[in-house]
Amino acid sequence: MPRKRNHPLCGFPLCDRQREKGGLCRIHTKQRASGATLVPLRPKSPSLREKFWLNVNKDGPTMPHMDTPCWVWTGRLSLGYGRLYGYKRQIKAHRYSYCVAHSDVPATQNVLHHCDNRACVRPEHLYAGTQKDNNRDAKERGRFNPARGERSGKAKLTEADVVLIAKSISARVTLSKLAEEYGVTSHAIRSIKVRRTWRHVERP
Ligand SMILES: [Zn+2]
Ligand SMILES: [Zn+2]
Repeated sequence: MPRKRNHPLCGFPLCDRQREKGGLCRIHTKQRASGATLVPLRPKSPSLREKFWLNVNKDGPTMPHMDTPCWVWTGRLSLGYGRLYGYKRQIKAHRYSYCVAHSDVPATQNVLHHCDNRACVRPEHLYAGTQKDNNRDAKERGRFNPARGERSGKAKLTEADVVLIAKSISARVTLSKLAEEYGVTSHAIRSIKVRRTWRHVERP
């Protein structure tokens, strides 16, 4: 049974430490007092970590431009990104994974995917950067489309998404569920299914 927590949490994004008087945890309060930039801390809660790993499939696909397989989030997705629920807030699974492994992501930066697979939480496939970094990387990999970058607001599918969608379709996941997960219409999913769109993408 997860331990019941009734104390309020630190106000810093993703921080799961106990809140002190000023609204932040002890360590963040110190950081603020010293005038330093507040940095995220390694998540502390073991139960959240356990919960995280229960939702990771390390046997994911290897993307064409990657050497190692993705670790795919099997829990809830939103716009293709994994979502973890802990301490009454929604946490991005890939960001959490990166924070656990590397700790140090300034709040002003995004955690982005080298592998283009939004559902991937493998720390080696992730990097911290700005949207600009992501666009530059994407351009180098030849998939540049400003409207299609990660976190572009509107859900636009990437080739990696399409591979995963095709896999899910073969695994009999319903089109409407996929549409909801990826934030596109059922029609868009059906078009992938019948190969009206994304015909150039090799499928499993
Ligand atoms: Zn804190
Ligand atoms: Zn990956």
